[in-house]
Amino acid sequence: MDKKSKRLVLKRTPMRKRKPRERVKSFYEVALGYTEKEAVKEANRCLECKRPPCVKGCPVEINIPGFIKRIKEGEFLESAKILKENNPLPAVCGRVCPQEDQCEKSCVLARKGAPVAIGRLERFSADYEAKKEKRDSLVSSSTGLSSTKGKVAVIGSGPASLVCASELAKKGYSVSIFESLHIPGGVLVYGIPEFRLPKDIVRREISYIRSLGVKVVTNFFAGRTQTIGELMNEDGYEAVFVGTGAGLPRFMHIPGENLLGIYSANEFLTRMNLMKAYKFPDYDTPVKVGEKVGVIGGGNVAMDSARVALRAGAKKVSILYRRTKNEMPARIEEIENAEEEGIEFVFLVAPVEYIGDENGWLRQAKLIRMRLGEVDSSGRRRPIPIKDSEFKIPLDTVVVAIGQSPSPLIAKRTPGLKVDPRRGTIMVNEKTGATTKVGVFAGGDVTTGAATVILAAGAGKAAAKDIDYYLNNKDKKGIWKELMEKR
Ligand code: FAD
Ligand code: SF4
Repeated sequence: MDKKSKRLVLKRTPMRKRKPRERVKSFYEVALGYTEKEAVKEANRCLECKRPPCVKGCPVEINIPGFIKRIKEGEFLESAKILKENNPLPAVCGRVCPQEDQCEKSCVLARKGAPVAIGRLERFSADYEAKKEKRDSLVSSSTGLSSTKGKVAVIGSGPASLVCASELAKKGYSVSIFESLHIPGGVLVYGIPEFRLPKDIVRREISYIRSLGVKVVTNFFAGRTQTIGELMNEDGYEAVFVGTGAGLPRFMHIPGENLLGIYSANEFLTRMNLMKAYKFPDYDTPVKVGEKVGVIGGGNVAMDSARVALRAGAKKVSILYRRTKNEMPARIEEIENAEEEGIEFVFLVAPVEYIGDENGWLRQAKLIRMRLGEVDSSGRRRPIPIKDSEFKIPLDTVVVAIGQSPSPLIAKRTPGLKVDPRRGTIMVNEKTGATTKVGVFAGGDVTTGAATVILAAGAGKAAAKDIDYYLNNKDKKGIWKELMEKR
C-alpha cells in the first residue's frame, strides 16, 4: 500500500445538529458545526492533490487544499485568511453553498467514498476566526485600504454585489453599495432563514467588507431614488455594477390565487425573516399561518418556507411538488432536514384551483396528479397532467415558491440596457459582466435568474476584474466591444 492509500479515510466526519423536536420550536441554527478536534480529523482526510480538481469546481477558486492544510496543522486563523483571499463570505458559503454540486462533487474522494467535507471545514475556519475576534475584542476594521483609483457604484447588496465591491476595494477603488432595503445582505438576510444562516454571521462578513473601505448606503432604490445615468453623469461614478437579484415572485395564475392566506414565498419569508413577523405583536408585521400549510415548489425556497411555517405554529406542512424527489432542485441536506422535522412531501401533484370561504379565506386546494414525460430544457423530466385526476385537500395557508425573476425597474429607467425579453434578465457577456450599456456591468441572479450564492459571488468577482480592466483602459478604442465580445 502506498503512503496515500494508507491515509484514505472513506467516511466523512459527521456534523452535529439540533434534535428535530427541539429545533422546530425555535429559529436557532440547526447545524452546529465542527469542534476543533472534528475539523482536524476531517481535514486529515484531504490528500492535498497536486492538481486539485475541487478548486476547479469552486466558482471563486478558493485554495481548498491550502486552507485545509492549515486546519490539519491547527493554524485555524491562517486557514481563514486563505479563504478570504478569494471569498469575503466564507461563513455564509460554508453554510449555504451546494458543495455537493461543486467543489465536493469534484473531490477525488467522491469517486471512492465520501468527498472531503469542504463546506463544513470552510464554516469551521470562518467561525473560529469570528469567535477569536470576539474573545480578543478585535474588530476587523483595521485593514485600512486606501482608495486611490476611481469611483464605482454597486447596486444591490446580495452576494454578487458584496464580492464585487470587496474585490474592487482591494484593488484601490472607492466603492459605494446602494441597497433599496434598510439592511444590506440581499437574500442572505431577507430570504434564507435564521435557522440556516444566522443574521449575525451575515452582519459580520459585511462588516469585514466595510472594513475594506466599502461604503453602504441603504434605503436607496436605484431607478427611483436616482437612476444609473444620474449616478454616472452627475455623481461621478465611472462604472456601475448591477447586482439586484431576482426578487419578483412568479405565480401560477390559477383561479383563487388572490384568496387570503396565499402568499408568495418572497413576501412570506421577508416578513418572517427581516421583520420578525413570527414575534407578532412585539413586531408589527403579522403573517397569519394556519394549521394546514401547503408549499408549492421543490427548491431551497420551498424547503425554507415549509420549515419557517412549521416554526411559526402550523400543525401540518406539506410540500406539493409536480415532479419526484429525484428532480427536486433543493439541497439534499435541506430536504433531509425538512423530512426529519416532519414536513410531508407529496410528489407528482400541482394545484389547479384554490377554494375559499365566504370571507375570502383559503379553505381548500384542488390538485391534479402528474406523470413524468421526456427530459425538457431544464434537464429534468417534464411533468404532464393526468386527465380527470383532480382531487381536493383542506389547506388554510399556501406559500407559492415556484421561482422569481428580476424586477424590470432598473432596465426601464436605464436607456440602452437590454434585457432578455423572455426571462427579464439583464443581458451580459458571461465572462466579463459587460452589459449593452457602456460602463455598466451586471452579475448574479439579475443576469441568470434565480441561482445560487456562490454563482452570484463568482459573477461579482469576475465583473470586478473586468471593471478594473475597463477603468484602466477606458481610452482604448473599442474597449467596450472587446468586453462585450470576450470569450
Ligand atoms: P440578491 O441576494 O437577491 O440581492 C439583491 C439585492 O438587490 C437585494 O438586497 C435587493 O433588495 C437589492 N435591490 C433590488 N433592486 C434594487 C434597486 N433597484 N436598487 C437598490 N437595490 C436593489 N442559494 C444557495 O446557494 N444556497 C441556498 O441554500 C439558497 N437558499 C435560498 C433560499 C431562499 C429563500 C432564496 C430566496 C434563495 C436561496 N438561494 C440559495 C439563492 C441565493 O440566495 C441567490 O442566488 C443569491 O442571493 C443571489 O445573489 P444576488 O447578489 O444576485 O442577489
Ligand atoms: Fe483534498 Fe479532495 Fe481537493 Fe484533493 S480534491 S485537494 S482530496 S479536497
